[in-house]
Amino acid sequence: MRIDLHTHSDRSDGTDPPAELVSKARAAGLDVVALTDHDTAEGWDEAVDAALYEGITLVRGIEVSTKYGGDGVHLLAYLPDPTHPDLRGELTRILQGRNARLPGILAKLAELGIDIGETEVRGLSTSAAATGRPHVADAMVAKGVVEDREEAFSKYLGPDGPAYVQRYAADLPTMIGIVAAAGGVSVLAHPWAARHGHSALDEAGLSELKEAGLAGVEVDHLDHDDLTRTRLRALAIELDLVITGSSDYHGAGKQGHDLGCHTTAPDQLHRLLDLARDSAAHARRDTPGVVRP
Ligand code: AMP
Ligand code: ZN
Ligand code: FE
Ligand code: FE
Repeated sequence: MRIDLHTHSDRSDGTDPPAELVSKARAAGLDVVALTDHDTAEGWDEAVDAALYEGITLVRGIEVSTKYGGDGVHLLAYLPDPTHPDLRGELTRILQGRNARLPGILAKLAELGIDIGETEVRGLSTSAAATGRPHVADAMVAKGVVEDREEAFSKYLGPDGPAYVQRYAADLPTMIGIVAAAGGVSVLAHPWAARHGHSALDEAGLSELKEAGLAGVEVDHLDHDDLTRTRLRALAIELDLVITGSSDYHGAGKQGHDLGCHTTAPDQLHRLLDLARDSAAHARRDTPGVVRP
């Protein structure tokens, strides 16, 4: 069983439409794939149709932009009812914040002598639920300002870059509660990735989040080196958190993150789905459930 629990389509900042992503997941030899676009469930329906056609198990998820102790933290919400009012409200606020930030980023780039029009960037993100920094990066690549997204982030768009502009993110413990109320389960995405900063996600922080309802942590991810994985795995075992692994595939949008490059163990997925079933029963919501061939 090969299980990849974290991927992005062009409904956020990946480059493949959901159906193409699912078909590539099958071709890559995966048995289970999760679609987890940033802050949106817009790709779910197309992915379901493709999963049934391809004969692959699909887990529907959303990677939610949150903040905790001053750091940006990505939270993977699996199998929540996307119509839950609080969840919808927070996701709308995040997407609106991402969209509203674009002119500010472009103004800062203009000050640096890099002229990119808003319609240009919007045109590169017509399939996406909102226009984000990766789409700005794509416009910079198209203009020949940088080679790839990575260079755009490291030189201009990252938190320490000259074109950085803040946007809204949900409070992490609050969001874990909302995911539970929507009948889903929460897993921290790449919690110890250096680029996110993770000072608050130490043993005390993870214990607090587990109390708030956190189900698991993503350990096997390209943004974690071997030592980081070993330490995080040990802590997850100590705290009895589910351990996941995934590619964080973005199509052509992120180098090296090939489908299935990291995977989740079957027993860990089993535990996660058990917790999701409990959560759905407790919340009494109409949750999406796993799509099985
Ligand atoms: P936004 O939510 O619009 O601020 O964009 C953040 C997204 O950009 C993240 O969720 C990542 O998928 C992507 N990203 C962040 N840092 C990098 C980087 N260094 N290279 C490529 N993509 C990145
Ligand atoms: Zn992304
Ligand atoms: Fe992420
Ligand atoms: Fe991701």
